[in-house]
Amino acid sequence: MTHVVAKPCVDCKYTDCVVVCPVECFYEGERMLYIHPDECIDCEACVPECPVEAIFHEDNLPEEWSDYLQLNADMAPQSEVITEKQEPLADS
Ligand code: SF4
Ligand code: SF4
Repeated sequence: MTHVVAKPCVDCKYTDCVVVCPVECFYEGERMLYIHPDECIDCEACVPECPVEAIFHEDNLPEEWSDYLQLNADMAPQSEVITEKQEPLADS
């Protein structure tokens, strides 16, 4: 089981989520973050930190964003780990 970053994250990158993750399993894509499914321990610490509610347990992922489960699994292993809060994008 894992948590998944879904569409509301696109172009947000406030990254409040990454600092609370005890296992540092967030990875930075060009326009959103991804969670590595083999590393996430389902602690849920990140869920309330996300101001746009982009993070879901895979069992609670809304149907319209079901593709994001595979997207996180595909993209996290090829992205850079992110553990510190970044400045938000200028237009977000
Ligand atoms: S806080 Fe939410 S929207 Fe912002 S980077 Fe983290 S998951 Fe994405
Ligand atoms: S549920 Fe816990 S382990 Fe998984 S990404 Fe969120 S903070 Fe990290």
